[in-house]
Amino acid sequence: MIIRFWGVRGSLAAPITAHHVEEKIRRVLELASPADLLSKEAITSFMQNLPLSLRGTYGGNTTCVEIQTSENKTIIIDAGTGLRTLGNALMARGKLTGKDEAAFFFTHSHWDHIQGLMFFVPIFIPGNTFHFYSCFPDIETRLRYQMVTTHFPLTFDELNSAKKFYPFTEEESVDAYGLSVSAKAVRHPGGCYSYKFKQANGKTFIFCSDAEFNLEILEDIGPFIDYFFGADVLVFDTQYTFEESLQKIDWGHSSAAIATDIAIKSEVKKLVLYHHDPSYDDTKMDSVLLQAIKYKSMMAPNHPLEIVAAYEGLEIEL
Ligand SMILES: [Zn+2]
Ligand SMILES: [Zn+2]
Repeated sequence: MIIRFWGVRGSLAAPITAHHVEEKIRRVLELASPADLLSKEAITSFMQNLPLSLRGTYGGNTTCVEIQTSENKTIIIDAGTGLRTLGNALMARGKLTGKDEAAFFFTHSHWDHIQGLMFFVPIFIPGNTFHFYSCFPDIETRLRYQMVTTHFPLTFDELNSAKKFYPFTEEESVDAYGLSVSAKAVRHPGGCYSYKFKQANGKTFIFCSDAEFNLEILEDIGPFIDYFFGADVLVFDTQYTFEESLQKIDWGHSSAAIATDIAIKSEVKKLVLYHHDPSYDDTKMDSVLLQAIKYKSMMAPNHPLEIVAAYEGLEIEL
């Protein structure tokens, strides 16, 4: 499977500002030496060595992750604002232009996880079929709520594709295009589910956003360690710094330090920091990642865990 990130922000979309773009240009110009600008190749090499905060951006869209299965089928986790660009990209690849299908898995129905649905062009195309999976049995009602006429000009029934709903529970697993998918409830206001996607070759991807793992939960972490154990890729809610997480008890999110502790204990191979706070700019995100890597080196210097921070455009192949 290929995992692609289309929205990585939590809570609210956070577009980059003109001020931030100007600051990036200023800092890049300060860093460049005359030799870096002598040829196109020299410029490319110089740019490749810049941190993401200077050569690009982590992105401002909210939660949306694509899984392209080994059979080239599409699974989408959550419908945050990143879903709009995913829809356009899928159609450019010739997917979902009619008589095609895809599956959605909804972790929960907070705004930042459903708001892109009405801007997903393929859902308007007759002949497409969408399979909606969630551990919330009323997910259809919840999606209809956000499309009442006081809040949006179109109703859910005006999305012209076919839509089928498949509620399931933590006690069962479902098959989605050859992936075995299981779920686990996590602590979050209003509830939320983590989903685990397992390929036939045993490779495992776990998506665990909007999940509060605080010091109290760490005392009884055993069942979660079993659930996460050996995952090849674990996408984890790291909205807060450790200091913020101590102040924001019951806000429903975790820190990179706690995510790192859990990933080490669970023998996870790659940890992806996710659900970035909308107030964090790209420079802050670089430092969140660097601090997590330093923390891991201090806590478990010989552990092979790799830590990356999610950004729009990140692709991971399993
Ligand atoms: Zn969220
Ligand atoms: Zn949430």
